[in-house]
Amino acid sequence: MGGAQNPFLIAQQQIRNAVVALGESEELYELLKAPAHFVEVQIPVRMDDGGVRVFTGYRSQHLTTLGPAKGGIRFHPAVTADEVKALSMWMTFKTSVVGLPYGGGKGGVVVDPRKLSQGELERLARGYVREIWPFIGPDRDIPAPDVNTNAQIMGWMLDEYEKIVGRSCPGVITGKPIALGGSLGRNEATGRGVVITIREAMEYLGLRLEGARVAIQGFGNAGQFTGLLLEELGAVVVAASDSRGGILCPGGVRVADLIAHKQATGSVVGFPGSRATDQYGVLTADCEILVPAALENQIDAEVARGIRARVVAEAANGPTTPDGDHVLAQRGIFVIPDILANAGGVTVSYFEWVQNLNQFYWTEEEVNARLEQKMVESFRQVVATAERHGAYTRTAAYMYSIQRIAEGLRVRGLLQAPARQLRVAAGQ
Ligand code: GLU
Repeated sequence: MGGAQNPFLIAQQQIRNAVVALGESEELYELLKAPAHFVEVQIPVRMDDGGVRVFTGYRSQHLTTLGPAKGGIRFHPAVTADEVKALSMWMTFKTSVVGLPYGGGKGGVVVDPRKLSQGELERLARGYVREIWPFIGPDRDIPAPDVNTNAQIMGWMLDEYEKIVGRSCPGVITGKPIALGGSLGRNEATGRGVVITIREAMEYLGLRLEGARVAIQGFGNAGQFTGLLLEELGAVVVAASDSRGGILCPGGVRVADLIAHKQATGSVVGFPGSRATDQYGVLTADCEILVPAALENQIDAEVARGIRARVVAEAANGPTTPDGDHVLAQRGIFVIPDILANAGGVTVSYFEWVQNLNQFYWTEEEVNARLEQKMVESFRQVVATAERHGAYTRTAAYMYSIQRIAEGLRVRGLLQAPARQLRVAAGQ
């Protein structure tokens, strides 16, 4: 387990697998194998002690031919250029799986936000926007929250952007506070989408969700809402972890209590009545549903061999290595791939952007109903693709997604029609 594998190379491999499985051309791979635009910036920040520290930030726009780039910004000490590139590539396939008019984008700043005061965090968020503002915009590239960023940070970023451009522009960023044009339901959306796909997967496999045991690796926004909403449907959370360690509670936890414990102490560790474990212990816990909701490269071949869950729902981006994938596929574990499982967040970001552009706001029921519709439809399409081609679910999700992207590239004249279509046209 660990971050040894380069996510950019993994993303390229996944694209290649799908292009080959679809019988598409090398040209398509060439068009998708790297981001269209990538910027690195240095962000000077005045620290509370009066000194200045310079942080490195990135923004990657993978594809801009299907609409503006779209994707979050993460604040993490392990952020790298290749990681941000890979994450932007995964966003392209994610937005296409759920049929959104976007390409993929992603940003990151190399920082441990836990070591910053609120004031320093705000100045960093604003500083990042001062460096990247010429590259973003509601019709160009629309950032959002990701690991260690939240609505408040989006609020500061929007405020800085609007001050620079001198006009109201809520559609430039999503996942904002409601008071600044955020969407109802956006905060819960990633978890809600994960849970919809788990519910569909359990039904598809003929398994009961009620009473099913769940392990959640990573207890941030996505992990917490996934736990809460699964509990509402009768499942029981028996294991959880965060960056400080993991816990096992075979009898089940009340998710609200675990969230309160994490808010009070900074971690799930030490939750009353639990047994301490590590990340491996949570990933291989005795359960029916495993939700990796942390970072990349957590499920390698060794972890995959130890997983006891029947369903793995990837709330995180890129949690499984190619070797891990191989083992999961061989073992017949049902994987709901990240680009499908966690697409609820960007889907409601899209709804937020639509509301901003129209200046007309929806009820939470309306947001959730539309999210439900999109997630269920996409889940069914991916499963149908897997069945039709006898493909592993991850490859099927890429195949379904890439088909739509290829169509967009073709009608723009960037990609030739496939040989069989040329033949049909010639015979007419
Ligand atoms: N960061 C989230 C993701 O990885 C959400 C992106 C967005 O809402 O644009 O999907």
